[in-house]
Order: sequence, then structure tokens, then C-alpha cells
Amino acid sequence: MNVSVVGSGYVGTVSAACFADLGHNVVCIDIDAKKVDMINRGEPPIYEEGLEKLLKKHAGKKIKATSNYNEAVASTDISFICVGTPSDAQGNIDLSIIKAASKSLGEAISLKKNYHVVVVKSTVVPETTENIVIPIIEKASGKQVGVDFGAAMNPEFLREGKAVYDFNHPDKIVVGAVDQRSDDLVCSLYSRLDREITHTNPRTAEMIKYVNNAFLATKISFANEIGNICKKMDIDTYQVMEAVGKDIRISSQFLNSGAGFGGSCFPKDVKAIIGKAKELEYKPGLLESVIEINEKQPLLMIDMLESKIGSLKGKKISVLGLAFKNDTDDIRESRSIPVIKTLIDKGAIVSAYDPMACDNMRNIFEDIAYYSSTVQALENTDACLIMTEWEEFKDLCSEFKVMHRPLVIDGRNVIHCKEIEYIGLCW
Ligand code: NAD
Repeated sequence: MNVSVVGSGYVGTVSAACFADLGHNVVCIDIDAKKVDMINRGEPPIYEEGLEKLLKKHAGKKIKATSNYNEAVASTDISFICVGTPSDAQGNIDLSIIKAASKSLGEAISLKKNYHVVVVKSTVVPETTENIVIPIIEKASGKQVGVDFGAAMNPEFLREGKAVYDFNHPDKIVVGAVDQRSDDLVCSLYSRLDREITHTNPRTAEMIKYVNNAFLATKISFANEIGNICKKMDIDTYQVMEAVGKDIRISSQFLNSGAGFGGSCFPKDVKAIIGKAKELEYKPGLLESVIEINEKQPLLMIDMLESKIGSLKGKKISVLGLAFKNDTDDIRESRSIPVIKTLIDKGAIVSAYDPMACDNMRNIFEDIAYYSSTVQALENTDACLIMTEWEEFKDLCSEFKVMHRPLVIDGRNVIHCKEIEYIGLCW
């Protein structure tokens, strides 16, 4: 089939590369000319394991990129919207990019004679496909949904860092279509993945995505709250959760306590569903607590630091790990951001290291010192905060000797060195 993918970020580029690998012809559409050029050269605009190999294999053959919607829509049967859905200043979902992409697709569809299907893959609050995307396309195209064009919502559940693997081995595929014809077309794209598909309507598909993320985020905040209580009684919360997780009704996943969740999805998605609930005049107390715990959690590391070394003014603090999790260069909502901000506000001098994410973090904190190795970042510092569970941090030990004081506050339970002054966040 001929597929266009609007937005060449994490979801768009991975979906495009994987659809091509399933045998489809793919056109990527992005307004960022730099990303378009990179994809046409076979270079991934973001880091994801296995993505470069797929792009190199298919670029110029099964994958092309452009900024021209009309050209892309004319040459394809189906368009996936994979643009960003960030939070606005109040934490509610900002749909401005979705609206712009829908309008451009509608204008391109107006020029097309053949039937076309538009699929929303971006995470959007329930009712967005029906009440916002479809009306915009109808207005811009002068055509009618279910008659002249089809529409569906097909949420994405991939994990950053493992996105290519997850696309090819999904634990579920959800298709919320407006009619049978749209449903059939979307499902046929995934036929080679051999996975049962949940067929539903757009608003249920949209809700499934939010419930999935909100539940995982809830598990993490729950584990962090329990971890904070365990720490006060010298109880090993990891041992507690290992035993609790053996209950098949609970499962052991997402029960690791630490500095909290970040990334492009959990924080914004939980806030977006809170915003939607409030719009419906429902107060989602549990979900509000999930966010509140997550915002306090990394700052507990600063309290621990101050209780050990006093005022942070003029103190040199190393921060190891900037990405929101390991195996990605993504720093969106990383728990290292509020930590670094607080350190700076309190007058500390920050030296940072991350195997992949230093360049991205420079866009947020221009003036802290970034190093290309752990040892350089640790040199002569008064304490070290561990913010990301990178594999290469797991064996750190003698490296801490270059510190002025080898005090390590571990937010991810990755350091196992006995020769340092060690404080675990919840253990
Ligand atoms: P992203 O910000 O990495 O990428 C979005 C891309 O859209 C950018 O390349 C941008 O240049 C492009 N863009 C912006 N406006 C455009 C327009 N009008 N036309 C064409 N392109 C345009 O976003 P992402 O992380 O890939 O997320 C996309 C969506 O998928 C979001 O709704 C997100 O919540 C959801 N999602 C993300 C993940 C994840 O792990 N990142 C997982 C599941 C779902």
C-alpha cells in the first residue's frame, strides 16, 4: 500500500521506516526541511535502536520525504498524523499542531479524486478525532467523512529506545475507525504483524491510549510513595516490590522506585486527561496525586544533598544522566531538568555528563558545563546525583575517587560501589 506519514519525529520516523520494512511505499511529510533532507539521505532525525539500518535500507526506494502535502497525499492512499501534542501553559493538551496538519491534509484531499483515509496516530484526548480533526478536514477539503474520505484513530504504544522492536512486536493494535472501509484499510497495513486487533470507535481508541499511560504512570508514583515510606523504616523497597510483583494481578513491571517518570508521554498525557476530566466537571484526584508525587520526587534528592553538605551556594555538583531514561537522547520532561534548575537556583556549579543527551540539554541549560566522560564530569565535585539508569553507570566505582568528596545520591538504584558515601533515593 502507499502510505504517507505526517510528522517525522519519534513516532513518525519509526512508523515510516517500519511500514516500509513491511513492504509499503512510504512518503514522510514534515515542515522541517532539515529532517526531510536527513530522511532522504537515509539518516534518522532522532536516535532509535535499529532505525538507521532501516532508513539506510529503504531511503530513496520505499521511503521518500517531502514538505509538500499535496504531492504526498496525491501519491498515497492513507495518511497517518504523527505530529506532536504538547501541553499548553495550563497543562492541557495543545492541539494547534494537530489542527495545522489536519488543515494541510484537508487541502491536499480537496485536490484528490480518489478516496483517502486519514489516521490519527498522535496521542489526542477523547473526542479530538471526531470533533476537531474530521471537521477541519471536511471544511478544508469540501468533502464528507464516510463518503469521500475515511478516518480512524490508531494509537501508538511504542517505548522510546525500543520503538522499532515494539512496532514489530506490539502487544496490542487498536483501530478506532469511523466506518468499516477505513477500519479494513488501516488493519490491512498491519496484517503481516500477526496480532489481534481491537476494533472500536475513535474516542474509545483515544481513551485506551490515555488509560494505558495513566495506569503505568500511576504504578510508578505508587512505587515511589511506597519507596519513600520504606526508606524511613530502613525497609528495602526493591525487595518489597519484587515480592509484590509476583502477584500476577499486579506484575513486577513499573514498580521500581526512583526519581520519577519523564519523557514525552507520561507527564503530558496524565496532565491532558486530567484537563479533559476537569472540562467535563470531574475532579480526578488520583491522577492529580500521580503528578504531584512525580514533581516532588526528584527534588527529594536535593533535600538529601543539602542535609549532607549544607548550603549549595558555590558547591560543585555533578549530574550523571540527562536523558529521561537510558538508550535515548530524549530529554523531554527528564527528571534531571527540575534537579539542575534547582541546583542552579541554589547557587551550585553543575557539571553534567550523558552518553547521548548533552547536545539536547544545551538547549535548556546553556551555561552549565557538559563533559564527554563520567570522570571529567566528576572531577573535583562535592557530590554526584545519578538521574538516568544508563548501563555504563552500573560499574562506576573507582571513578568516584576524582571527586572532592565521593558522595553519591542515586535516583535510579544503579550504583553498587561500596567505597563511597552512598545515599539511595528510596532504598
Ligand atoms: P516529535 O515532536 O518528535 O515529532 C513531531 C514532528 O512533527 C516533528 O518532526 C515536527 O517537525 C513535525 N511537524 C510539526 N508540525 C507539522 C506539520 N504541520 N506538518 C508536518 N509535520 C509537522 O513528536 P513524537 O514524540 O513523535 O510524538 C508524536 C505524537 O505521538 C504525540 O502525540 C505523542 O504524544 C505520541 N506518542 C509519542 C510516543 C513517543 O515515545 N515519543 C509514543 C507514543 C505516542
